[in-house]
Amino acid sequence: MKDIKCTVIQDLLPLYVDEVVSDDTKSLVNEHLLTCENCRNEYEQMKGTLYVPIENKDTLFSQLKKRWNRKKWLLIFGSVLTTTLIGFALFSFIFYYAKPIPYTAELFELEETADGTLVLNYFGESHAGTYTTHPLEVEIDGEVKKISLIYYVKTIAHSPTSNFLREDKRIGPDRLELVDSETVDAVYYGDFDLDKVTKEKEQTWEELLQQMTLIWER
Ligand SMILES: [Zn+2]
Repeated sequence: MKDIKCTVIQDLLPLYVDEVVSDDTKSLVNEHLLTCENCRNEYEQMKGTLYVPIENKDTLFSQLKKRWNRKKWLLIFGSVLTTTLIGFALFSFIFYYAKPIPYTAELFELEETADGTLVLNYFGESHAGTYTTHPLEVEIDGEVKKISLIYYVKTIAHSPTSNFLREDKRIGPDRLELVDSETVDAVYYGDFDLDKVTKEKEQTWEELLQQMTLIWER
């Protein structure tokens, strides 16, 4: 057994390195390695590199890579989605979250033109929109009156106090002609929800008008 061939030893080396050989084979290889420099070199080289069969190597690494890629894409997709949602929420809040502008005599002035049209002059810096009604026939204290309701809204982007996104250099007030206003008896300013007095009957006209400011009466 002493003159066992180097080729046989080298065939056994991978198993020897992986320590999956029997004790007999192990001592056989040990003995040979002590005397044969050639096989010892072969063994040292094999020991230094992790022995993974070629076919396993491929699938193992591609699986790891695939898994990592999937994780990476999920992570990227997740953070892009989160960023988009936060951005959209912020954008909506700044541009669309509308708050009624409270009435003050300095900000608003109602003017009756020569032909009887009512014009609301607004002296504030900028606003996001206006809510107005056509003349409404309303019975108050047994008396039928024609009234117009109106209010202005601002957002963070359109606000007299934080007017950082646009700078209005308006000459004169913002003028708004009230629709069919020649026949109107009174104009009220304030946040209103017509559905609550018409469709849903949750409020009476008296209750609604009490929350508003009478800004003009014929
Ligand atoms: Zn040898």
